[in-house]
Amino acid sequence: MGNFNGRSVVVTGGAQGIGRGLSEGFARAGASVTIVDIDKASANQLTETLRDDGFTAQWVFADVSRAADAERAITSAIAAYGGVDVLVNNAGIQPMGSYVNVEAETEEGWDRIIGVNLKAHFLMSKYAIPSMRERGGGVVINIASVQGLQSQPLVPAYAASKGGVLSLTRNMALDYASENIRVVAINPGTIDTPMVRTQALAAGNEDELVEQWGGLHPIGRVGQPSDIANAALFLASDQASFITGEHLCVDGGFMAQGAWASETAD
Ligand code: NAP
Repeated sequence: MGNFNGRSVVVTGGAQGIGRGLSEGFARAGASVTIVDIDKASANQLTETLRDDGFTAQWVFADVSRAADAERAITSAIAAYGGVDVLVNNAGIQPMGSYVNVEAETEEGWDRIIGVNLKAHFLMSKYAIPSMRERGGGVVINIASVQGLQSQPLVPAYAASKGGVLSLTRNMALDYASENIRVVAINPGTIDTPMVRTQALAAGNEDELVEQWGGLHPIGRVGQPSDIANAALFLASDQASFITGEHLCVDGGFMAQGAWASETAD
């Protein structure tokens, strides 16, 4: 889907999980991909595999919540591939110890989650947009979450970060629409990634729980990183040229359900 030949695409958290699916999807569609990640082993392995398969990719070690790292990541994409056409702000964290209410959340824990899940989207966009402008336009795709729309208990920082990403998406879309820079968001449902596997493993019955979580989605399964990549390829393509400031739930129907969904109508 889509022809990204000659396009430079930056994927944060691009070495594992949803980010890996995004990096693979854009590389296969012809893009030159800059994988930005802190997981050296995974990033190295993915970059080598993509190159061995004849695709164009590099990786940059950067903590995207830090301004200097974010700027360096964008500078590396420009140096290698001439600029940035598409930025996918995907890196995000939901640490195991963060399932607490606001009284129990620490300032440090709050700042780390907001830093990676929200501030990094701002930083990466700040440094990428001048290059998009120079190239006549571009697309920013923010990976948010269904938790930006509704919340589960005990995730104050995560839920706030994802709601913030959706607000930032709408704001940036307005600020840059006249310059042909579109800004959109994707809200994944449960996707089979290391983040989700870690949570399931901590609960003790990994495969069983992942299957159970899949059953909560009307389509009857958890999503795969490729499900998110396919949506991103469309949103980044010229076929989506009239879509900006919008979010797309890629969630197997999860957000379509009401609390009364399992009740039988009289
Ligand atoms: P994941 O499996 O944990 O993969 C995330 C990748 O990002 C990892 O390689 C991680 O490295 C890297 N990373 C973490 N912090 C970083 C930082 N500061 N700078 C650069 N790279 C960093 O996560 P995922 O499940 O694919 O989630 C990706 C995004 O989708 C997140 O924004 C998440 O909130 C969102 N999302 C996921 C789901 C889901 O069900 N999986 C649902 C809704 C939304 P390390 O492993 O070394 O930390």
